[in-house]
Amino acid sequence: MSLTNAGGSPAYRILAIETSCDETAAAVVADGRHIFSNRVASQIEIHRRFGGVYPEVASRQHVLAIQTVVEDALADASVAHVRELDAIAVTHGPGLAGSLLVGVNLAKGLAFASGLPLIPVNHLEGHIYSNWLYPDRSPDAEYSASEDGNGRTQRSGSASDQFPALILIVSGGHTELVLMEGHCRYRLLGATLDDAAGEAFDKVARLLELGYPGGPAIQAAAESGDAGRFHLPRPLMRPGRRTERQPDAKASSLPTVLPVRGEHRFNFSFSGLKTAVLNLMRQLEREGTEARQPQSAADIAAAFQMAVVDVLVGKTADAAAEFGVKQVCICGGVSANGLLRRSAEQHFAQIGLPLHCPPLFLCTDNAAMIGAAAYYRQFYGPARQPSPTGRGHRQDAEAVARSTPRDQPSEPSARDFLALDVYASLPLVDSMQW
Ligand code: ADP
Ligand code: MG
Repeated sequence: MSLTNAGGSPAYRILAIETSCDETAAAVVADGRHIFSNRVASQIEIHRRFGGVYPEVASRQHVLAIQTVVEDALADASVAHVRELDAIAVTHGPGLAGSLLVGVNLAKGLAFASGLPLIPVNHLEGHIYSNWLYPDRSPDAEYSASEDGNGRTQRSGSASDQFPALILIVSGGHTELVLMEGHCRYRLLGATLDDAAGEAFDKVARLLELGYPGGPAIQAAAESGDAGRFHLPRPLMRPGRRTERQPDAKASSLPTVLPVRGEHRFNFSFSGLKTAVLNLMRQLEREGTEARQPQSAADIAAAFQMAVVDVLVGKTADAAAEFGVKQVCICGGVSANGLLRRSAEQHFAQIGLPLHCPPLFLCTDNAAMIGAAAYYRQFYGPARQPSPTGRGHRQDAEAVARSTPRDQPSEPSARDFLALDVYASLPLVDSMQW
């Protein structure tokens, strides 16, 4: 099947593979924006009995699932053979080494056999680019009709090419505020000093025996809870008076907070909040109240969720103001949280700044976001070491619009394959200023 964009160039289609944790995922994405297929085999049911991801079990499950998932993703996109595509992309870190290896090895094999370029993608950059995907799963018939004169489409609901952009990454493993100065150009403004936001949701859900994964369980319990019954701390925040920061009417009895001043103003810390929940539960027990009784658990869940959202929205709002950004994007598993989305929407609508959150199916781990990040890294990314095949050179947006990516030489060498590092653990390592 041959597709062209408005510039008359063939669409650049990538098969993306993601196995960094406990989701086996594959997708076909065109021009970094259009999702042709997006398959995710979740292992949640398997890990539920352990209360968290069991790494060895996760990698074995990836081995069992990956072939079917990739075949299904290709079939959904009407791709008869990998050679019809333009590149293979794979998450090469950060993540569980045993899980990453499964995806990386399959991607290497497919690329070597087909002669397609192999694009290693940082998982966090994948989460960032989930905001650039079009939220509707675009059928190919729709593909060229919606292009603008530059071969790129701006459709409501997904991020635009307006920079600087502020990115809040909130997942099970990471909580980071990132200033995105252009495609694939990042500055890390702050990160968690201990637990990630999603990890805190998971741990507090375990304390309250609400189930796994903790984020959706806390959110569900909080719906019948009173966030004002208990007060929990807002770590690395200080008392303030800006009432517009109040994320929800239910919280009107809570003090308003602003980020602390100084070096930690864009950093986060959630492990003390988890301890505060534990201390609150012990105090309730001492007073003769069963902390896990449904109403108490719901009230604690609501108070905890409110505290996390207060901190996330407060710091994001301050960073957006300080750096004069043109748009704000939230991504990662915790961006599925309803209160976080509502609170952020409420704040940024008030100040007239575009806010993007991926649709729910793109918040948690998936391969479509890896395909999007791979496209931008391939054509907009910072200069890399020139490879023997001539791939990896810098191309600016205009050059991309004019060129035909398919025409570039793409024979992979053994050196390219060996260069893939599955232990990549630093986010966005080749362009961040630490
Ligand atoms: P990873 O950290 O492996 O990249 P994801 O990006 O898929 O994982 O994020 C998973 C995390 O998102 C988990 O910690 C989970 O509890 C959290 N999460 C998922 N849905 C919600 C929600 N509705 N509210 C809060 N947290 C959520
Ligand atoms: Mg993730």
